[in-house]
Amino acid sequence: MLGRVPIHDVRSLTEVVAFVESSDSEQVIICDVDNTLAPQGASLPEFGRLVNAAIDRLDENQHVARVIALTNGPQRDVERMVSRGNKPWTSRRRLGLAGNVAPIVVVGDQLLTDGVLAWRLRATFLHLVIDDETEEPRQATMRRLGRIVGGMLFSRKE
Ligand SMILES: [Mg+2]
Repeated sequence: MLGRVPIHDVRSLTEVVAFVESSDSEQVIICDVDNTLAPQGASLPEFGRLVNAAIDRLDENQHVARVIALTNGPQRDVERMVSRGNKPWTSRRRLGLAGNVAPIVVVGDQLLTDGVLAWRLRATFLHLVIDDETEEPRQATMRRLGRIVGGMLFSRKE
Protein backbone atom coordinates (compact mmCIF):
# COMPACT_ATOMS: atom_id res chain seq x y z
CA MET A 1 0.00 0.00 0.00
CA LEU A 2 1.16 3.51 -0.82
CA GLY A 3 1.94 5.82 2.07
CA ARG A 4 -0.04 8.84 3.15
CA VAL A 5 0.11 12.22 1.43
CA PRO A 6 -0.01 15.63 3.14
CA ILE A 7 -3.34 17.32 3.76
CA HIS A 8 -3.98 20.95 4.70
CA ASP A 9 -7.29 22.66 5.38
CA VAL A 10 -8.05 25.81 3.40
CA ARG A 11 -11.08 28.09 3.46
CA SER A 12 -10.66 30.16 0.33
CA LEU A 13 -8.84 30.51 -2.98
CA THR A 14 -6.69 33.14 -1.27
CA GLU A 15 -5.44 30.48 1.15
CA VAL A 16 -4.72 28.18 -1.80
CA VAL A 17 -2.62 30.91 -3.41
CA ALA A 18 -0.78 31.53 -0.11
CA PHE A 19 0.02 27.82 0.16
CA VAL A 20 1.36 27.61 -3.38
CA GLU A 21 3.46 30.74 -2.87
CA SER A 22 5.05 29.26 0.25
CA SER A 23 6.83 26.66 -1.91
CA ASP A 24 10.06 27.23 -3.85
CA SER A 25 9.12 25.13 -6.86
CA GLU A 26 6.44 25.61 -9.47
CA GLN A 27 3.44 23.39 -8.91
CA VAL A 28 0.65 21.87 -10.96
CA ILE A 29 -2.73 22.68 -9.44
CA ILE A 30 -5.66 20.38 -10.03
CA CYS A 31 -8.72 22.19 -8.82
CA ASP A 32 -12.17 20.76 -8.17
CA VAL A 33 -14.94 22.95 -9.56
CA ASP A 34 -18.31 22.34 -7.88
CA ASN A 35 -18.39 23.83 -4.39
CA THR A 36 -14.72 24.72 -4.78
CA LEU A 37 -14.54 27.33 -7.57
CA ALA A 38 -18.30 27.85 -7.86
CA PRO A 39 -21.23 27.05 -5.56
CA GLN A 40 -23.40 24.10 -6.56
CA GLY A 41 -26.48 26.20 -7.34
CA ALA A 42 -24.79 28.89 -9.47
CA SER A 43 -26.54 29.93 -12.68
CA LEU A 44 -24.76 29.05 -15.93
CA PRO A 45 -23.37 32.57 -16.56
CA GLU A 46 -22.31 32.96 -12.93
CA PHE A 47 -20.69 29.53 -12.98
CA GLY A 48 -18.66 30.40 -16.09
CA ARG A 49 -17.63 33.76 -14.69
CA LEU A 50 -16.44 32.32 -11.37
CA VAL A 51 -14.59 29.35 -12.86
CA ASN A 52 -12.81 31.42 -15.52
CA ALA A 53 -11.84 34.10 -12.99
CA ALA A 54 -10.39 31.48 -10.63
CA ILE A 55 -8.44 29.78 -13.43
CA ASP A 56 -7.07 33.18 -14.52
CA ARG A 57 -6.05 34.06 -10.99
CA LEU A 58 -4.12 30.82 -10.49
CA ASP A 59 -2.71 30.79 -14.04
CA GLU A 60 -1.04 34.18 -13.70
CA ASN A 61 0.73 33.15 -10.48
CA GLN A 62 4.45 32.52 -11.02
CA HIS A 63 4.41 29.59 -8.63
CA VAL A 64 1.84 27.79 -10.76
CA ALA A 65 3.14 25.64 -13.63
CA ARG A 66 -0.35 24.65 -14.78
CA VAL A 67 -3.94 24.81 -13.65
CA ILE A 68 -6.34 21.97 -14.36
CA ALA A 69 -9.97 22.60 -13.42
CA LEU A 70 -11.49 19.15 -13.05
CA THR A 71 -15.13 18.23 -12.54
CA ASN A 72 -17.10 14.99 -12.60
CA GLY A 73 -20.02 17.05 -13.87
CA PRO A 74 -20.89 18.27 -17.39
CA GLN A 75 -19.05 20.95 -19.39
CA ARG A 76 -21.50 23.85 -18.85
CA ASP A 77 -19.88 26.06 -21.51
CA VAL A 78 -16.50 26.38 -19.76
CA GLU A 79 -14.00 25.29 -22.39
CA ARG A 80 -10.99 25.34 -20.09
CA MET A 81 -12.41 22.74 -17.74
CA VAL A 82 -11.94 18.96 -17.84
CA SER A 83 -15.51 17.66 -17.48
CA ARG A 84 -16.88 14.22 -16.62
CA GLY A 85 -13.49 13.66 -15.08
CA ASN A 86 -14.15 10.33 -13.33
CA LYS A 87 -12.56 11.44 -10.07
CA PRO A 88 -10.92 9.82 -8.16
CA TRP A 89 -9.84 7.42 -10.92
CA THR A 90 -8.81 10.08 -13.46
CA SER A 91 -5.60 9.05 -15.23
CA ARG A 92 -2.47 11.16 -15.57
CA ARG A 93 -2.91 10.83 -19.32
CA ARG A 94 -6.44 12.29 -19.20
CA LEU A 95 -5.07 15.21 -17.22
CA GLY A 96 -2.18 15.72 -19.66
CA LEU A 97 0.28 14.85 -16.89
CA ALA A 98 1.83 11.68 -18.32
CA GLY A 99 5.39 13.07 -18.24
CA ASN A 100 4.88 15.55 -15.41
CA VAL A 101 7.56 15.79 -12.74
CA ALA A 102 6.41 19.00 -11.01
CA PRO A 103 4.83 18.61 -7.58
CA ILE A 104 1.04 18.40 -7.76
CA VAL A 105 -1.48 20.06 -5.47
CA VAL A 106 -5.12 18.94 -5.58
CA VAL A 107 -7.72 21.35 -4.22
CA GLY A 108 -11.25 20.23 -3.39
CA ASP A 109 -14.06 19.91 -0.89
CA GLN A 110 -14.55 16.14 -1.06
CA LEU A 111 -12.11 13.66 0.44
CA LEU A 112 -13.63 10.68 -1.41
CA THR A 113 -13.17 12.16 -4.87
CA ASP A 114 -10.68 15.05 -4.74
CA GLY A 115 -8.77 13.65 -1.78
CA VAL A 116 -8.45 10.12 -3.11
CA LEU A 117 -7.31 11.54 -6.46
CA ALA A 118 -4.59 13.48 -4.61
CA TRP A 119 -3.56 10.30 -2.84
CA ARG A 120 -3.42 8.33 -6.12
CA LEU A 121 -1.32 11.04 -7.78
CA ARG A 122 0.96 11.36 -4.72
CA ALA A 123 -0.08 15.00 -4.51
CA THR A 124 -0.63 17.35 -1.60
CA PHE A 125 -4.33 17.71 -0.84
CA LEU A 126 -5.74 21.11 0.06
CA HIS A 127 -9.07 20.31 1.62
CA LEU A 128 -11.55 23.13 1.23
CA VAL A 129 -13.56 23.21 4.43
CA ILE A 130 -16.99 24.55 3.74
CA ASP A 131 -19.89 25.64 5.88
CA ASP A 132 -21.92 22.53 6.88
CA GLU A 133 -25.11 24.57 7.28
CA THR A 134 -25.57 25.40 3.63
CA GLU A 135 -24.43 22.07 2.28
CA GLU A 136 -26.63 19.66 0.31
CA PRO A 137 -27.44 16.49 2.33
CA ARG A 138 -25.74 14.19 -0.21
CA GLN A 139 -22.57 16.29 -0.17
CA ALA A 140 -22.61 16.41 3.63
CA THR A 141 -22.94 12.60 3.86
CA MET A 142 -20.05 12.13 1.44
CA ARG A 143 -17.96 14.51 3.47
CA ARG A 144 -18.67 12.63 6.71
CA LEU A 145 -17.71 9.34 5.05
CA GLY A 146 -14.60 11.06 3.76
CA ARG A 147 -13.44 11.82 7.29
CA ILE A 148 -13.38 8.09 8.01
CA VAL A 149 -11.01 7.23 5.16
CA GLY A 150 -9.13 10.51 5.61
CA GLY A 151 -7.05 9.23 8.49
CA MET A 152 -5.75 6.33 6.42
CA LEU A 153 -4.70 8.31 3.36
CA PHE A 154 -3.46 11.64 4.70
CA SER A 155 -0.99 12.95 7.18
CA ARG A 156 -1.75 16.22 8.87
CA LYS A 157 0.98 18.50 10.16
CA GLU A 158 0.31 21.40 12.49
MG1 LIG B 1 -16.58 19.66 -5.15
